[in-house]
Amino acid sequence: MTKILIIGQGIAGTLLAFELRKRGAIVDIQDGNLPGASSVAAAGIVNPVTGKRYVKSWRFEEFYPVARQTYRELEELLQLSLWEERPILRLLGTAEETNDWSIRCAQEDYAGYLSERSHAGLWGPLLKPGFHYGLIHQAGRVNLPLLVQSFRQFAMKNGFFSEKTWLPVTQEPLFSAYDKVVFCEGWRGESNSLFPETPFRVSKGEALLLRFPGVDPEHLPTEMLKKTVLVAPLGNGIYWAGSTYRWFFPDTLPGDEGKTFLLDHLHDMLAAPFEIQDQVAGIRPTMIDRRPVIRQSPINPNAFMFNGLGTKGALLAPYFAAQLATQLLQN
Ligand SMILES: Cc1cc2nc3c(=O)[nH]c(=O)nc-3n(C[C@H](O)[C@H](O)[C@H](O)COP(=O)(O)OP(=O)(O)OC[C@H]3O[C@@H](n4cnc5c(N)ncnc54)[C@H](O)[C@@H]3O)c2cc1C
Repeated sequence: MTKILIIGQGIAGTLLAFELRKRGAIVDIQDGNLPGASSVAAAGIVNPVTGKRYVKSWRFEEFYPVARQTYRELEELLQLSLWEERPILRLLGTAEETNDWSIRCAQEDYAGYLSERSHAGLWGPLLKPGFHYGLIHQAGRVNLPLLVQSFRQFAMKNGFFSEKTWLPVTQEPLFSAYDKVVFCEGWRGESNSLFPETPFRVSKGEALLLRFPGVDPEHLPTEMLKKTVLVAPLGNGIYWAGSTYRWFFPDTLPGDEGKTFLLDHLHDMLAAPFEIQDQVAGIRPTMIDRRPVIRQSPINPNAFMFNGLGTKGALLAPYFAAQLATQLLQN
């Protein structure tokens, strides 16, 4: 049986471990619980149509069914609710935005993804006046922090997780104990000398956790909301609002600059008062070309990298973890 060591257990390491075990491999995971991990700050939103031009996400039709199926399998395994499908209410602020939206809605390959809407539903009383609305369908959210944490508990219970940071000098001998070692280190992969010239351009992201104290729980919105920032209901009256993008940053911690940016954009959308419960930050493992990376080390042929999930780990990780697991086991 093939024996594989995975270094790093964010969404990449979690899904790779899951797919390898499904295919009968022996898996061990090491994670050092290092600061700045991305998966534990993320909302895990899967959004089929993004950006100012409302463009469909890369190979969405291929990736989405795999993601949905995989998260349902993980729900079964971990006996948890992790995945939910919810539309996104898109706020359109100008005549040009509204017009561009109508044009997209009329395009054949956007049918089933976008529609126009005349009202804001339960968000209505919480919003500033003057917006037009669109709806994004086939959107969803996987609870990434809960998935990573619960899979870690499962792996501990089953004896295949250890809390350890990979240090090349002391741990290089481990290579001989495994058939393959796969590095799923997120942004920290940038400094892994086994994978020179990987085109990292990592970005810091921050988000706020909010609550609307004046709103009756029965009237709390259940759809996600998007203008410049996205607001997603997490349950129990808590909403995630994010995120920021910074390519140069002095540390991995939440800060005032991120908070101010998010508050400015929230106040552009929301009229209702809200309370901040928490602020989170993480470093996204983004690449220059914004594509995921799977590579074999040019220095050690038994070392592999699974990284570059960027802003879309929730959508991309299931498909690429499955592909990589099959390839690793077929040599
Ligand atoms: C604020 C914010 C919001 C986001 N929102 C979304 C969203 O809504 N939807 C979406 O799809 N994506 C979102 N993302 C992006 C998403 O978080 C990433 O795509 C994804 O989580 C990357 O996962 P990863 O496993 O590659 O890296 P990480 O989650 O960073 O995991 C890497 C792990 O490796 C460990 N590690 C690193 N080096 C070592 C070592 N040498 N030894 C041992 N352990 C090590 C770390 O401790 C960490 O646990 C968001 C990101 C941020 C920051």
